[in-house]
Amino acid sequence: LGRRINAAVSDLTRSPNLDEKAFDGMVKEICNALVEADVNIKLVAGLRASIRKSVNFKDLGPGVNKKRLIQKAVFDELVNLVNPHAEPFKPRKGKANVIMFVGLQGSGKTTSCTKLARWYAARGFKSCLVCADTFRAGAFDQLKQNATKAKIPYYGSLTQTDPVVVAREGVEKFKKEKFEIIIVDTSGRHRQEQDLFDEMIQIQQAVQPHQTIMVLDSSIGQAAEAQSRAFKETADFGSIILTKTDGAAAGGGAISATAATHCPIAFLGTGEHMLDFEKFDPQRFVSKLLGMGDVQGLVEHVQSLKLDQKETMKHIAEGVFTIRDLRDQLQNIMKMGPLSKMAGMIPGLSGMMGGMDDEEGSLKLKRMIYICDSMTTKELDSDGKCFTDQPARMTRVAMGSGTSVREVEELLSQRMLMGGMAKKMGRGMKNLQSKQGQA
Ligand code: GDP
Ligand code: MG
Repeated sequence: LGRRINAAVSDLTRSPNLDEKAFDGMVKEICNALVEADVNIKLVAGLRASIRKSVNFKDLGPGVNKKRLIQKAVFDELVNLVNPHAEPFKPRKGKANVIMFVGLQGSGKTTSCTKLARWYAARGFKSCLVCADTFRAGAFDQLKQNATKAKIPYYGSLTQTDPVVVAREGVEKFKKEKFEIIIVDTSGRHRQEQDLFDEMIQIQQAVQPHQTIMVLDSSIGQAAEAQSRAFKETADFGSIILTKTDGAAAGGGAISATAATHCPIAFLGTGEHMLDFEKFDPQRFVSKLLGMGDVQGLVEHVQSLKLDQKETMKHIAEGVFTIRDLRDQLQNIMKMGPLSKMAGMIPGLSGMMGGMDDEEGSLKLKRMIYICDSMTTKELDSDGKCFTDQPARMTRVAMGSGTSVREVEELLSQRMLMGGMAKKMGRGMKNLQSKQGQA
């Protein structure tokens, strides 16, 4: 998709008579590419109108980089479509936050609800799972297995066949036990749409969720719009988890779903593994969709992310490099992707990730970020020496982040390596400043 859009823009800017007709042709070609990527046809028509409006062709002077301008207009319009500007749900600490999952069978509910429970658990919320899929015994087994692996408490029944009863009992039990995140998994298994929706409403009434999340398989393409609309009208979900984004799907379905329901996509499922789960970022998503992998695109992309390096640069000037600085740099690399190109930018990291492909490397980075996220503020803002005095904290952090003590140690030595460099660089910067002062 990205290639086609870029080609269309290049054709236009290379054409000798850059007139309005050629511009219209280009917009048309971009729109065809979007429709083929499963973006809803009506949306594309709207997009076409707004690109025409935002790029006023007649007023463009000769000095303007038209290619950049048009590319940026397409990018911005698409970002606008996946960004409903609605705040995603924020659970409250110390309260029972009930979250109910809805979605068709096979969309990835059971997998995603474990991922979400783990995500919140790693951020200090007491989290648990309730299996309200009583359609087959295997459903509870699957949830049990996932939950056990993630060390998340769960509730379900092999004998009770009414999902409404199981959901109510599970939520009541966990509320009494002061759980903060209670996630209810449902079946989505009914053949008849009406039965499915009836069951959803009954469970919803029984557990009174603070948030309902629709799980959407990104490979369903053009069907995404109708499906999201139907679910929205019945279950009135507040956000979407988009799964299987690691697959071959073009991703346009996601754009259609958000645009149809005005609901934010909260998370992406990026694989079958528990850690293959990330917060949704509209700009990053569209960059990937447009395949902005070329160097020029990458540079623009990095600029558009407005990565905040100020704090870290200030620290380095002082010869300091904390664990938080390390985490911020890791997060920046994750945002940028593709990893193989970016890892080289951070000293020592390319060595550590030597021989890994992008997938392994990104999993490694994710795990390092989880480790940081399991630390206390004080630990984050330290140079890590506090862990040497308190090895038990290392074990706690490893457990809290679902990683190992060895990985925590590895992170601490990465920090040490970069801390040493920061010291040298800080000294260099000071020398430079004093020289400039003398001149
Ligand atoms: P449910 O019927 O909605 O509960 O769906 P499941 O959670 O059982 O998932 C259905 C299948 O999709 C399983 O084989 C999962 O491993 C797989 N799956 C779920 N999420 C993802 C994802 O983000 N990426 C990939 N590749 N597979 C996924
Ligand atoms: Mg399931």
